[in-house]
Amino acid sequence: MIRIEMPAAASDDAYLQKLCGKQPWSPHYALWQAAYSGYRSQKGNPWHISRTAFVPDVSDQQTALYESQSSSQRIVKIRQMQLKSCPMCGSSVTGTVDHYLPKEDFPEFSVMAANLVPACSHCNSGKKGRTFRGTSRNERFLHPYFDSLAGQPLWLTRIIPPYEAARFEAAPIQSLSANNRELMKFHLRHVLGQQFHRNAENLWATYPQYLRDEIGGTAPVSPARARKEIARSLRISILTSGENSWNASFFRGLAENGDAQTYLARAARGLKATPLLL
Ligand SMILES: [Zn+2]
Repeated sequence: MIRIEMPAAASDDAYLQKLCGKQPWSPHYALWQAAYSGYRSQKGNPWHISRTAFVPDVSDQQTALYESQSSSQRIVKIRQMQLKSCPMCGSSVTGTVDHYLPKEDFPEFSVMAANLVPACSHCNSGKKGRTFRGTSRNERFLHPYFDSLAGQPLWLTRIIPPYEAARFEAAPIQSLSANNRELMKFHLRHVLGQQFHRNAENLWATYPQYLRDEIGGTAPVSPARARKEIARSLRISILTSGENSWNASFFRGLAENGDAQTYLARAARGLKATPLLL
Protein backbone atom coordinates (compact mmCIF):
# COMPACT_ATOMS: atom_id res chain seq x y z
CA MET A 1 0.00 0.00 0.00
CA ILE A 2 2.48 2.49 -1.31
CA ARG A 3 2.03 4.76 -4.29
CA ILE A 4 4.81 4.09 -6.79
CA GLU A 5 5.47 5.94 -10.02
CA MET A 6 4.36 3.84 -12.97
CA PRO A 7 7.14 2.21 -15.03
CA ALA A 8 7.63 4.18 -18.25
CA ALA A 9 5.12 3.18 -20.94
CA ALA A 10 7.76 3.79 -23.61
CA SER A 11 10.02 1.18 -22.05
CA ASP A 12 7.25 -1.46 -22.01
CA ASP A 13 6.38 -0.63 -25.61
CA ALA A 14 10.00 -0.77 -26.75
CA TYR A 15 10.47 -4.13 -25.06
CA LEU A 16 7.36 -5.55 -26.72
CA GLN A 17 8.41 -4.24 -30.11
CA LYS A 18 11.83 -5.86 -29.77
CA LEU A 19 10.31 -9.15 -28.60
CA CYS A 20 7.89 -9.18 -31.53
CA GLY A 21 10.72 -8.67 -33.96
CA LYS A 22 11.33 -12.41 -33.51
CA GLN A 23 9.26 -15.56 -34.04
CA PRO A 24 6.91 -16.82 -32.78
CA TRP A 25 5.74 -13.42 -31.63
CA SER A 26 5.80 -11.30 -34.81
CA PRO A 27 2.17 -12.00 -35.88
CA HIS A 28 0.89 -10.91 -32.45
CA TYR A 29 2.47 -7.49 -32.17
CA ALA A 30 -0.52 -5.29 -33.05
CA LEU A 31 -2.98 -7.11 -30.80
CA TRP A 32 -0.48 -7.33 -27.97
CA GLN A 33 0.37 -3.65 -28.22
CA ALA A 34 -3.35 -2.86 -28.06
CA ALA A 35 -3.65 -4.97 -24.90
CA TYR A 36 -0.80 -2.97 -23.32
CA SER A 37 -2.51 0.32 -24.23
CA GLY A 38 -5.78 -1.01 -22.82
CA TYR A 39 -4.09 -1.99 -19.58
CA ARG A 40 -2.76 1.53 -19.14
CA SER A 41 -5.97 3.32 -20.09
CA GLN A 42 -8.01 1.07 -17.75
CA LYS A 43 -5.35 1.41 -15.04
CA GLY A 44 -5.01 -2.35 -14.70
CA ASN A 45 -8.59 -2.59 -13.38
CA PRO A 46 -9.64 -6.26 -13.73
CA TRP A 47 -13.29 -5.22 -14.09
CA HIS A 48 -12.47 -3.26 -17.25
CA ILE A 49 -9.86 -5.46 -18.88
CA SER A 50 -10.77 -8.63 -20.68
CA ARG A 51 -8.29 -11.24 -21.73
CA THR A 52 -7.04 -10.91 -25.30
CA ALA A 53 -7.51 -13.98 -27.51
CA PHE A 54 -4.43 -14.50 -29.68
CA VAL A 55 -4.68 -16.73 -32.75
CA PRO A 56 -3.02 -19.16 -32.72
CA ASP A 57 -3.19 -19.45 -28.96
CA VAL A 58 0.16 -18.48 -27.41
CA SER A 59 -0.98 -18.13 -23.79
CA ASP A 60 1.29 -20.90 -22.46
CA GLN A 61 4.31 -19.35 -24.14
CA GLN A 62 3.32 -15.89 -22.86
CA THR A 63 2.99 -17.21 -19.30
CA ALA A 64 6.35 -18.96 -19.60
CA LEU A 65 8.00 -15.75 -20.84
CA TYR A 66 8.11 -14.48 -17.26
CA GLU A 67 10.37 -17.33 -16.10
CA SER A 68 12.84 -16.66 -18.88
CA GLN A 69 12.76 -12.90 -18.27
CA SER A 70 12.64 -12.75 -14.47
CA SER A 71 16.39 -12.15 -14.20
CA SER A 72 16.39 -9.46 -16.87
CA GLN A 73 17.49 -6.02 -15.79
CA ARG A 74 14.04 -4.46 -16.24
CA ILE A 75 12.43 -6.97 -13.87
CA VAL A 76 15.32 -7.07 -11.37
CA LYS A 77 14.97 -3.27 -11.15
CA ILE A 78 11.36 -3.69 -9.97
CA ARG A 79 12.27 -6.47 -7.54
CA GLN A 80 15.04 -4.40 -5.98
CA MET A 81 13.18 -1.09 -5.74
CA GLN A 82 14.06 0.78 -2.55
CA LEU A 83 10.85 0.93 -0.54
CA LYS A 84 9.89 1.41 3.10
CA SER A 85 7.52 -1.58 3.13
CA CYS A 86 5.71 -4.02 0.85
CA PRO A 87 3.53 -1.95 -1.56
CA MET A 88 0.84 -4.63 -1.49
CA CYS A 89 0.47 -5.64 2.18
CA GLY A 90 2.60 -3.21 4.24
CA SER A 91 4.95 -5.82 5.75
CA SER A 92 8.49 -4.69 6.43
CA VAL A 93 10.10 -6.70 3.65
CA THR A 94 10.17 -6.56 -0.14
CA GLY A 95 12.38 -8.40 -2.61
CA THR A 96 10.04 -10.20 -4.98
CA VAL A 97 7.72 -9.26 -7.82
CA ASP A 98 3.98 -9.87 -7.83
CA HIS A 99 1.77 -9.94 -10.93
CA TYR A 100 -1.09 -7.51 -10.25
CA LEU A 101 -3.17 -9.46 -12.79
CA PRO A 102 -2.01 -13.09 -12.44
CA LYS A 103 0.00 -14.35 -15.40
CA GLU A 104 -2.07 -17.54 -15.51
CA ASP A 105 -5.25 -15.52 -16.11
CA PHE A 106 -3.72 -12.69 -18.15
CA PRO A 107 -0.67 -14.22 -19.84
CA GLU A 108 -0.34 -11.23 -22.18
CA PHE A 109 0.79 -9.10 -19.18
CA SER A 110 3.28 -11.60 -17.75
CA VAL A 111 6.28 -9.38 -18.54
CA MET A 112 4.60 -5.96 -18.74
CA ALA A 113 6.38 -3.79 -16.16
CA ALA A 114 3.14 -1.91 -15.37
CA ASN A 115 1.65 -5.22 -14.20
CA LEU A 116 4.72 -6.20 -12.12
CA VAL A 117 4.60 -4.83 -8.63
CA PRO A 118 7.42 -5.05 -6.07
CA ALA A 119 6.16 -7.10 -3.13
CA CYS A 120 7.12 -9.36 -0.25
CA SER A 121 7.40 -13.11 -0.67
CA HIS A 122 4.14 -13.62 1.20
CA CYS A 123 2.25 -11.44 -1.30
CA ASN A 124 3.94 -13.15 -4.19
CA SER A 125 3.23 -16.70 -3.13
CA GLY A 126 0.76 -16.61 -0.28
CA LYS A 127 -2.88 -16.09 0.36
CA LYS A 128 -3.55 -13.80 -2.60
CA GLY A 129 -2.80 -16.60 -5.07
CA ARG A 130 -4.71 -16.18 -8.31
CA THR A 131 -7.41 -13.98 -6.83
CA PHE A 132 -7.54 -10.68 -8.68
CA ARG A 133 -11.08 -9.44 -8.07
CA GLY A 134 -14.10 -10.21 -5.92
CA THR A 135 -17.80 -10.27 -6.65
CA SER A 136 -18.67 -6.58 -6.79
CA ARG A 137 -17.03 -4.00 -9.05
CA ASN A 138 -15.24 -2.28 -6.20
CA GLU A 139 -13.66 -5.51 -5.09
CA ARG A 140 -10.14 -5.59 -6.49
CA PHE A 141 -6.63 -4.96 -5.24
CA LEU A 142 -5.18 -1.52 -4.84
CA HIS A 143 -2.74 -0.92 -7.70
CA PRO A 144 0.47 0.77 -6.48
CA TYR A 145 1.14 2.30 -9.91
CA PHE A 146 -2.35 3.48 -10.81
CA ASP A 147 -4.31 4.18 -7.63
CA SER A 148 -3.30 7.58 -6.29
CA LEU A 149 -5.22 6.54 -3.18
CA ALA A 150 -2.24 4.36 -2.23
CA GLY A 151 -0.35 7.50 -1.17
CA GLN A 152 -2.64 8.37 1.75
CA PRO A 153 -3.47 6.67 5.09
CA LEU A 154 -5.91 3.88 4.26
CA TRP A 155 -6.31 1.48 7.13
CA LEU A 156 -5.86 0.81 10.82
CA THR A 157 -5.66 -2.16 13.15
CA ARG A 158 -8.62 -2.56 15.49
CA ILE A 159 -7.73 -4.00 18.88
CA ILE A 160 -10.53 -6.23 20.08
CA PRO A 161 -11.01 -6.95 23.80
CA PRO A 162 -10.57 -8.73 26.13
CA TYR A 163 -7.18 -6.97 26.20
CA GLU A 164 -5.56 -9.80 28.17
CA ALA A 165 -6.05 -11.89 25.02
CA ALA A 166 -6.53 -9.17 22.43
CA ARG A 167 -7.41 -9.96 18.83
CA PHE A 168 -6.57 -7.77 15.87
CA GLU A 169 -8.60 -6.83 12.86
CA ALA A 170 -7.55 -4.80 9.83
CA ALA A 171 -10.10 -2.19 8.75
CA PRO A 172 -10.25 0.70 6.25
CA ILE A 173 -10.22 4.15 7.86
CA GLN A 174 -13.63 5.81 8.19
CA SER A 175 -12.89 8.86 6.05
CA LEU A 176 -12.63 6.82 2.82
CA SER A 177 -15.57 6.89 0.39
CA ALA A 178 -17.91 3.87 0.46
CA ASN A 179 -16.41 2.54 -2.80
CA ASN A 180 -12.86 2.87 -1.59
CA ARG A 181 -13.76 1.26 1.73
CA GLU A 182 -15.09 -1.73 -0.20
CA LEU A 183 -11.91 -1.87 -2.28
CA MET A 184 -9.75 -1.69 0.85
CA LYS A 185 -11.76 -4.35 2.66
CA PHE A 186 -11.20 -6.72 -0.23
CA HIS A 187 -7.53 -5.78 -0.46
CA LEU A 188 -6.86 -6.25 3.26
CA ARG A 189 -8.81 -9.51 3.41
CA HIS A 190 -6.65 -11.01 0.66
CA VAL A 191 -3.17 -9.68 1.42
CA LEU A 192 -2.93 -10.03 5.19
CA GLY A 193 -2.21 -13.40 6.74
CA GLN A 194 -0.90 -14.96 9.94
CA GLN A 195 2.29 -12.88 9.94
CA PHE A 196 0.31 -9.65 10.14
CA HIS A 197 -1.52 -10.95 13.23
CA ARG A 198 1.74 -12.12 14.84
CA ASN A 199 3.30 -8.72 14.27
CA ALA A 200 0.32 -7.01 15.97
CA GLU A 201 0.44 -9.54 18.85
CA ASN A 202 4.14 -8.79 19.37
CA LEU A 203 3.64 -5.02 19.33
CA TRP A 204 0.76 -5.32 21.79
CA ALA A 205 2.60 -7.68 24.13
CA THR A 206 5.80 -5.64 24.27
CA TYR A 207 4.34 -2.11 24.36
CA PRO A 208 3.98 -1.88 28.18
CA GLN A 209 7.73 -2.52 28.49
CA TYR A 210 8.39 0.01 25.73
CA LEU A 211 6.36 2.58 27.67
CA ARG A 212 8.30 1.87 30.85
CA ASP A 213 11.63 2.11 29.03
CA GLU A 214 10.71 5.44 27.43
CA ILE A 215 9.24 6.97 30.57
CA GLY A 216 11.64 5.47 33.13
CA GLY A 217 11.18 5.49 36.89
CA THR A 218 8.60 3.41 38.68
CA ALA A 219 5.64 5.79 38.92
CA PRO A 220 2.33 4.72 37.36
CA VAL A 221 2.05 5.66 33.69
CA SER A 222 -0.84 8.05 33.05
CA PRO A 223 -3.11 7.40 30.05
CA ALA A 224 -2.19 10.90 28.81
CA ARG A 225 1.51 10.01 28.81
CA ALA A 226 0.80 6.67 27.12
CA ARG A 227 -1.18 8.56 24.45
CA LYS A 228 1.76 10.84 23.79
CA GLU A 229 4.12 7.89 23.38
CA ILE A 230 1.65 6.15 21.05
CA ALA A 231 1.45 9.30 18.89
CA ARG A 232 5.25 9.29 18.75
CA SER A 233 5.34 5.58 17.82
CA LEU A 234 2.87 6.27 15.01
CA ARG A 235 5.00 9.13 13.71
CA ILE A 236 8.16 7.00 13.77
CA SER A 237 6.39 4.08 12.07
CA ILE A 238 5.15 6.34 9.26
CA LEU A 239 8.61 7.84 8.86
CA THR A 240 10.49 4.56 8.78
CA SER A 241 7.96 2.15 7.22
CA GLY A 242 5.34 4.31 5.47
CA GLU A 243 1.73 5.43 6.04
CA ASN A 244 0.23 2.02 5.36
CA SER A 245 2.80 -0.27 6.92
CA TRP A 246 1.71 -2.86 9.47
CA ASN A 247 3.25 -0.83 12.31
CA ALA A 248 1.67 2.47 11.24
CA SER A 249 -1.70 0.70 10.99
CA PHE A 250 -1.22 -0.76 14.49
CA PHE A 251 -0.40 2.57 16.12
CA ARG A 252 -3.11 4.39 14.13
CA GLY A 253 -5.64 1.96 15.58
CA LEU A 254 -4.17 2.26 19.06
CA ALA A 255 -4.18 6.08 18.87
CA GLU A 256 -7.98 5.95 18.38
CA ASN A 257 -8.65 3.49 21.16
CA GLY A 258 -8.79 5.09 24.63
CA ASP A 259 -9.60 1.82 26.42
CA ALA A 260 -6.62 0.04 24.89
CA GLN A 261 -4.37 2.99 25.84
CA THR A 262 -5.57 2.82 29.45
CA TYR A 263 -4.98 -0.94 29.50
CA LEU A 264 -1.38 -0.55 28.27
CA ALA A 265 -0.69 2.28 30.74
CA ARG A 266 -1.88 0.01 33.57
CA ALA A 267 0.13 -2.92 32.25
CA ALA A 268 3.30 -0.81 32.45
CA ARG A 269 2.79 -0.42 36.20
CA GLY A 270 5.28 -2.51 38.20
CA LEU A 271 7.63 -2.97 35.24
CA LYS A 272 11.26 -1.90 35.57
CA ALA A 273 13.02 -0.01 32.80
CA THR A 274 15.51 -2.11 30.81
CA PRO A 275 19.02 -0.84 31.65
CA LEU A 276 20.72 0.95 28.77
CA LEU A 277 23.86 -0.80 27.57
CA LEU A 278 25.55 2.35 26.28
ZN1 LIG B 1 3.42 -8.10 1.03
